[in-house]
Amino acid sequence: MALALQTFPTVKDANAALKAAGTRYLGGGTLVVRAANEGDVSVSGLVRSTEPVLSAIAVSGGMARIGASVTMAAIARHPELGALAKAVRAVGGPAIRNMATIGGNLFAPAPYGDFAVALLALDATVSTDNGELPIETFLAGRNDSRAIVTSVSFTLPKAGTFRFLKVSRVKPKGVSVLSIAAVLEQAADGTISSARIALGCMADRPMRARAAEKALLGKTLDRDGIAPALAAATEGTAPITDPIASAWYRAEVLPVHLGRLLLT
Ligand SMILES: Cc1cc2nc3c(=O)[nH]c(=O)nc-3n(C[C@H](O)[C@H](O)[C@H](O)COP(=O)(O)OP(=O)(O)OC[C@H]3O[C@@H](n4cnc5c(N)ncnc54)[C@H](O)[C@@H]3O)c2cc1C
Repeated sequence: MALALQTFPTVKDANAALKAAGTRYLGGGTLVVRAANEGDVSVSGLVRSTEPVLSAIAVSGGMARIGASVTMAAIARHPELGALAKAVRAVGGPAIRNMATIGGNLFAPAPYGDFAVALLALDATVSTDNGELPIETFLAGRNDSRAIVTSVSFTLPKAGTFRFLKVSRVKPKGVSVLSIAAVLEQAADGTISSARIALGCMADRPMRARAAEKALLGKTLDRDGIAPALAAATEGTAPITDPIASAWYRAEVLPVHLGRLLLT
């Protein structure tokens, strides 16, 4: 079946066109076009917008705002977004990163969505024509969302506070067994004063490791200090099972990899 593609100069017009049954927004197309090619008959038309705000990256005053159509490759190249380079380079290989957008990554079901895991740890705000939402709220309601995401904004992490790890079986571009992102701040005595940890593949979408975050507060980043956090790491998780790994395996190895992330 032929797919109709409609391009609009404004997000508002594209949003209106998305009200038609069977239409989907087109980011880089790495998932939605693949689905259509594989016979997903629920997609009969694609809608995109060329409004410049969607492709803009603005970094100022310690804040970053990234348009939803910005690709992983563009983020990796940006001189002021170096802290995120490891997370964007975790998304597929070079060809995928040249097409994959930040907007599409927010909707990518596990085992995908590695960059959304980083954005969750960064406590990003997701903007649509209808307003702004904390990323956690956005992710919880994304299945019912029909609004076009226009941008994502977040406070740039202080030097050395952002950590990211992706575990895959095929290096360097395999799909995730799991991914972990963390923003950890330390007090002058070295103890953890603030912790935000996000997990990928430990549910159908990125989730917070709240029990581990809580267990880290006031602790030092050494084997004894992190032990309670590792013991609590799987609390509230519901890992996916796919051809890469079973839910059981993911739950078994999460504390091991969280430990590595915290100790490096
Ligand atoms: C071979 C291969 C390897 C991959 N490896 C990885 C990987 O390692 N890690 C990873 O995270 N992902 C991976 N992916 C998945 C995918 O490429 C990325 O998640 C990518 O960021 C999706 O973005 P996209 O722009 O291509 O999304 P699209 O395919 O364009 O869209 C995906 C979904 O999001 C919706 N959407 C897109 N943009 C918006 C918007 N602005 N507003 C509202 N809805 C929107 C679409 O309607 C669609 O439902 C891989 C995919 C392939 C094919």
